[in-house]
Amino acid sequence: MNPLIFAGNWKMHLGPVEAAAFLDRFLDSYVPRDDREVWFYTPAVSLSTVAARIAERVGLRVGAQHVHWEAKGAFTGETSVSMAAEAGATSTLIGHSERRHVFGETDEATGAKVRAALAGGLLPMLCVGETLAQRDAGQTLDVVRRQLAVLEGLAPAQLAQVPIAYEPVWAIGTGKNATPADAAAVHTVVRETMAGMGAPRVSVRVLYGGSVKPANVGALVAESEIDGVLVGGASIDADSWLAITGSDRD
Ligand code: PEP
Repeated sequence: MNPLIFAGNWKMHLGPVEAAAFLDRFLDSYVPRDDREVWFYTPAVSLSTVAARIAERVGLRVGAQHVHWEAKGAFTGETSVSMAAEAGATSTLIGHSERRHVFGETDEATGAKVRAALAGGLLPMLCVGETLAQRDAGQTLDVVRRQLAVLEGLAPAQLAQVPIAYEPVWAIGTGKNATPADAAAVHTVVRETMAGMGAPRVSVRVLYGGSVKPANVGALVAESEIDGVLVGGASIDADSWLAITGSDRD
């Protein structure tokens, strides 16, 4: 069985100074376990601070929250894959709902970013998920399949390097979350879709994200379809993150 992945998306929180203080507190109490990995998606400016702090630790990974698909050039404010890697990132989020809905990131852009990340040696975690209106219209699975379709044409070995985070948009930062059974049902479809594109079944990892907290994480990861969680708000407080990353399957 693959280790569970507990991934924290810090969003626009924890610059280098706060990140260092957070990690001092977290690493002081975190006990590594063979059955899990802990990943940190930090602001670009905090990557190297976090990378240096976790360098000697087992089962920890740091990643960027987004990258540009071009290698360099006149793209003010952007970070390239090689720059993120140079700062210590080994992964990147792609297609987070805030990138899609606040910054207008398209499926075309997410596809280009996935390919750039793979070419540059970063694990791209592709985020997918429906809005409330799409859910109410019964379009959840169509939306998720469309967002996954950007992976078509990748080789099986590349697909094996792309964890998927299913994050219903209506559940992100709202306090509402999909029931473990509802999330698991979508995860099954994600898994089938990935396998249909050629991904080796054993390599497909599907995380759930959306208002995960210490109180509900155990029930979510108890579902065999859920390979881990992507956590926003509850990942930026060290005590809450210790509780989440130390939790057992209910
Ligand atoms: C996220 O940012 O990916 C997320 C799931 O946020 P939250 O846990 O705050 O809902």
